[in-house]
Amino acid sequence: MSDEEKNSAAPAGATRAPADYFTGVAWVKPLVPANDPTDCVVGEVTFEPDARNNWHTHPNGQVLVATGGTGYYQEKGKPAQLLHPGEAVSIAPNVVHWHGATAYSRFTHIAINPAASKGVVVWLERVTETEYQAAHA
Ligand code: MN
Repeated sequence: MSDEEKNSAAPAGATRAPADYFTGVAWVKPLVPANDPTDCVVGEVTFEPDARNNWHTHPNGQVLVATGGTGYYQEKGKPAQLLHPGEAVSIAPNVVHWHGATAYSRFTHIAINPAASKGVVVWLERVTETEYQAAHA
Protein backbone atom coordinates (compact mmCIF):
# COMPACT_ATOMS: atom_id res chain seq x y z
CA MET A 1 0.00 0.00 0.00
CA SER A 2 1.41 3.40 -0.97
CA ASP A 3 1.61 6.31 1.44
CA GLU A 4 -1.10 7.97 -0.59
CA GLU A 5 -3.43 5.01 -0.04
CA LYS A 6 -2.68 4.78 3.68
CA ASN A 7 -3.55 8.45 4.10
CA SER A 8 -6.51 8.59 1.80
CA ALA A 9 -9.32 6.76 3.54
CA ALA A 10 -12.04 9.07 2.29
CA PRO A 11 -14.80 9.81 4.80
CA ALA A 12 -18.17 8.55 3.55
CA GLY A 13 -19.71 10.97 1.09
CA ALA A 14 -16.55 13.03 0.73
CA THR A 15 -14.51 13.83 -2.34
CA ARG A 16 -10.92 15.03 -2.63
CA ALA A 17 -10.46 18.76 -2.05
CA PRO A 18 -9.11 20.59 -5.12
CA ALA A 19 -5.32 20.44 -5.34
CA ASP A 20 -5.19 24.00 -6.67
CA TYR A 21 -6.38 25.31 -3.30
CA PHE A 22 -5.15 22.68 -0.83
CA THR A 23 -1.65 21.44 0.03
CA GLY A 24 -1.68 17.74 0.93
CA VAL A 25 -4.70 15.47 1.09
CA ALA A 26 -8.05 16.84 2.24
CA TRP A 27 -11.64 15.74 1.81
CA VAL A 28 -14.85 17.73 1.45
CA LYS A 29 -18.29 16.34 2.26
CA PRO A 30 -21.18 18.66 1.30
CA LEU A 31 -23.78 18.98 4.07
CA VAL A 32 -25.93 21.91 2.94
CA PRO A 33 -25.68 22.75 -0.77
CA ALA A 34 -25.82 26.08 -2.56
CA ASN A 35 -29.26 27.64 -3.08
CA ASP A 36 -30.52 26.43 0.30
CA PRO A 37 -33.29 28.65 1.79
CA THR A 38 -30.87 29.69 4.56
CA ASP A 39 -28.34 30.87 1.93
CA CYS A 40 -25.69 29.02 3.93
CA VAL A 41 -23.33 26.53 2.32
CA VAL A 42 -22.12 24.00 4.89
CA GLY A 43 -19.49 21.31 4.44
CA GLU A 44 -17.39 18.94 6.49
CA VAL A 45 -13.68 19.14 5.67
CA THR A 46 -11.17 16.51 6.79
CA PHE A 47 -7.47 17.28 6.49
CA GLU A 48 -4.89 14.49 6.64
CA PRO A 49 -1.79 15.33 8.75
CA ASP A 50 0.25 18.16 7.10
CA ALA A 51 -2.67 19.19 4.87
CA ARG A 52 -4.00 22.74 4.82
CA ASN A 53 -5.82 25.10 2.50
CA ASN A 54 -4.35 28.15 0.77
CA TRP A 55 -4.54 31.59 2.28
CA HIS A 56 -8.03 32.86 1.47
CA THR A 57 -10.87 35.19 2.44
CA HIS A 58 -14.65 34.89 2.67
CA PRO A 59 -16.62 37.92 1.44
CA ASN A 60 -19.34 37.23 4.06
CA GLY A 61 -17.23 35.60 6.75
CA GLN A 62 -17.20 31.97 7.91
CA VAL A 63 -17.74 29.93 11.06
CA LEU A 64 -15.61 26.83 11.62
CA VAL A 65 -16.61 24.19 14.18
CA ALA A 66 -13.87 21.68 14.98
CA THR A 67 -15.23 18.15 15.26
CA GLY A 68 -12.24 15.79 15.16
CA GLY A 69 -8.48 15.66 15.66
CA THR A 70 -6.31 18.74 16.14
CA GLY A 71 -5.94 21.56 13.68
CA TYR A 72 -4.85 25.12 13.11
CA TYR A 73 -6.51 28.41 12.26
CA GLN A 74 -4.27 31.34 11.41
CA GLU A 75 -5.01 34.92 10.43
CA LYS A 76 -2.34 36.79 8.47
CA GLY A 77 0.08 38.52 10.85
CA LYS A 78 -1.13 36.62 13.94
CA PRO A 79 0.03 33.40 15.62
CA ALA A 80 -1.70 30.20 14.55
CA GLN A 81 -4.23 28.91 17.07
CA LEU A 82 -4.91 25.26 17.83
CA LEU A 83 -8.45 23.98 17.38
CA HIS A 84 -9.86 20.97 19.23
CA PRO A 85 -13.21 19.19 18.90
CA GLY A 86 -16.05 21.37 20.20
CA GLU A 87 -14.22 24.64 19.60
CA ALA A 88 -15.35 27.20 17.04
CA VAL A 89 -13.84 30.20 15.32
CA SER A 90 -15.79 33.08 13.78
CA ILE A 91 -14.01 34.69 10.84
CA ALA A 92 -14.98 38.22 9.82
CA PRO A 93 -15.51 39.08 6.15
CA ASN A 94 -12.35 39.56 4.07
CA VAL A 95 -9.90 38.46 6.80
CA VAL A 96 -6.96 36.64 5.19
CA HIS A 97 -6.48 33.23 6.85
CA TRP A 98 -5.91 29.49 6.41
CA HIS A 99 -6.99 26.34 8.26
CA GLY A 100 -5.71 22.78 8.30
CA ALA A 101 -4.34 19.82 10.23
CA THR A 102 -1.30 19.70 12.44
CA ALA A 103 1.63 17.58 11.27
CA TYR A 104 0.74 14.91 13.81
CA SER A 105 -3.07 14.59 13.56
CA ARG A 106 -5.93 14.47 11.15
CA PHE A 107 -8.35 17.36 11.60
CA THR A 108 -12.04 17.62 10.79
CA HIS A 109 -14.18 20.75 10.93
CA ILE A 110 -17.58 21.88 9.78
CA ALA A 111 -17.39 25.05 7.65
CA ILE A 112 -20.46 27.31 7.60
CA ASN A 113 -20.51 29.95 4.88
CA PRO A 114 -23.30 32.56 5.24
CA ALA A 115 -24.80 34.68 2.45
CA ALA A 116 -23.34 32.19 0.01
CA SER A 117 -25.20 33.60 -2.98
CA LYS A 118 -23.05 36.75 -2.57
CA GLY A 119 -19.79 34.73 -2.69
CA VAL A 120 -18.17 31.99 -0.65
CA VAL A 121 -14.38 32.16 -0.96
CA VAL A 122 -11.55 34.06 -2.64
CA TRP A 123 -8.45 31.87 -2.91
CA LEU A 124 -4.99 33.37 -2.52
CA GLU A 125 -1.43 31.97 -2.46
CA ARG A 126 -0.38 28.67 -0.89
CA VAL A 127 0.71 28.45 2.76
CA THR A 128 4.43 27.83 2.36
CA GLU A 129 6.28 25.09 4.22
CA THR A 130 8.04 27.82 6.24
CA GLU A 131 4.73 29.41 7.22
CA TYR A 132 3.26 26.00 8.08
CA GLN A 133 6.25 24.96 10.20
CA ALA A 134 6.03 28.29 12.06
CA ALA A 135 2.52 27.33 13.16
CA HIS A 136 4.08 24.45 15.12
CA ALA A 137 6.52 26.69 17.00
MN1 MN B 1 -11.79 29.82 5.64
